[in-house]
Amino acid sequence: MITTLRTDITIAQICEGFEYNELEGKGLFGLNGRLTIQPEYQRNYIYAECNKEAAVIDSIIKGYPIGLIYFVKKTDGNFEVLDGQQRITSIGRFIREKFPMVDGVGNCHFFPGLAPDLQKKILQTKLTIYECEGTETEIKEWFKTVNIAGIPLNEQELLNAIYSGKFVTKAKSVFSNSINSNVGFWSNFIKGSVKRQDFLHTALDWVSKGNISEYMSAHRHSDDISELENYFNSIIDWIDETFSDVKPEMRGLEWNRLFESYHSNTYDPQQISKRVSELYADDYVKNKRGIFEYLLGGEKDKKLLDIRLFDGPTKRTVYERQTIEAKEKGVSNCPYCALEHGSHYDTIWDLKDMDADHVSAWSKGGATDINNCQMLCKNHNRAKGNR
Ligand SMILES: [Zn+2]
Repeated sequence: MITTLRTDITIAQICEGFEYNELEGKGLFGLNGRLTIQPEYQRNYIYAECNKEAAVIDSIIKGYPIGLIYFVKKTDGNFEVLDGQQRITSIGRFIREKFPMVDGVGNCHFFPGLAPDLQKKILQTKLTIYECEGTETEIKEWFKTVNIAGIPLNEQELLNAIYSGKFVTKAKSVFSNSINSNVGFWSNFIKGSVKRQDFLHTALDWVSKGNISEYMSAHRHSDDISELENYFNSIIDWIDETFSDVKPEMRGLEWNRLFESYHSNTYDPQQISKRVSELYADDYVKNKRGIFEYLLGGEKDKKLLDIRLFDGPTKRTVYERQTIEAKEKGVSNCPYCALEHGSHYDTIWDLKDMDADHVSAWSKGGATDINNCQMLCKNHNRAKGNR
C-alpha cells in the first residue's frame, strides 16, 4: 500500500460541493464531487449527538490540529474518506449553516455571520491528510488493524467495511436505520444502538448462527436480504406472542437460542404473563433475567432463577441446634440418616459435610428463612434435590 501525505488541501476545497443528507444525517460528498465522505461501509454520523461538532470548529478557529485524516485514492482518481468522516461532516455542516459556533461570551454565530477574516482563516485552513492507495484487501486489512483515532470502530462496523457491497447497503437500510419505525419495538429485546450497527449485528448473528463473517461473505453481492429479515421477524414475533408484558430484563437475552429451543412448544400467554408477574414479585428470585427461559422450559430448571440461598450464619445456627439434639438422642445429626437405620444411623457430620435444605421446597412456596432451614448430609441433600 502506498501512502502520500497531503498538507495542501484546504477546508474550502474539501467543502466545495459539500452535500449533507438530512434524512440519514450524514455528509455525502466534498472536493467538488470527487470525495465520497461516507462510503457505504462507514458508520453512521455520530457527532450530531454530542458537542464534538462544536469542538472541531473551535479547534480550527484556534489553529489547533484536528488530527489525521485518511483518504483512499480509488483507481478512477476519486477519493473515499477512510477515517475523518465525522470531522469533515462537522466542518461541512458548519460552513452550510447547519449549526452555529458559540463565542467566548456565549453568543452564537453562524458561518456567514463571522467576521470576514475569520471566515477566510477557516476556509484556508489546511488539513493533514494521508492518501492511501492499494488493493481493496490491503486497504481493508489496514482499516481492520489500525488504531483509528476517536471512537474506535466496533466489530460490526469493521465487518461492514470488509464486506461492503449491495448486501450491507440493503441490510443497513433496514437494521441500521434510525428512522425505521420498528426500531423502538425491537429495542425492547435487543441491546445497543441502531447507529452503531448493534441491531444489524444481532440480526446477522441470529440468521448465521454466529458465523457472521461467512454469512456476509456469501451474500456480499446479493441485494436479497429476505432470509435475514424473515428470520429476524419470526423471532421478534414469537417473543411478542409469547410474552405480553415487556420487561427491561428482556433486553439482550439470547433470543435466537430460546427461539430455536422452545418455539415449537405451545404456551398460554395469559398464564405466562401471570407467572412472570408472580416471579418478579418473589424476593427469592435473584436472577430476573432467568425468568423467561425458566417459564419456557416448563418451570423445571430452578438454577436459572438463582434462588436466594441460606447464608452462613443461618446454616451454622441450624447445624448447632440439630447437632446438640442429635447427640442427646444418640442419633445422626442428619435427620434422614437418623431415620434410615443404616450405617450412618448415629454419624455426627461436620458442618462442611452438610448442606442447607428448604424443609418446604421453594417451588411450593417455602421461604428462605431460618424456620424453613434444615441441614442434611451431602448425600441426602443431593438425593432430595433430585426429586
Ligand atoms: Zn444423611
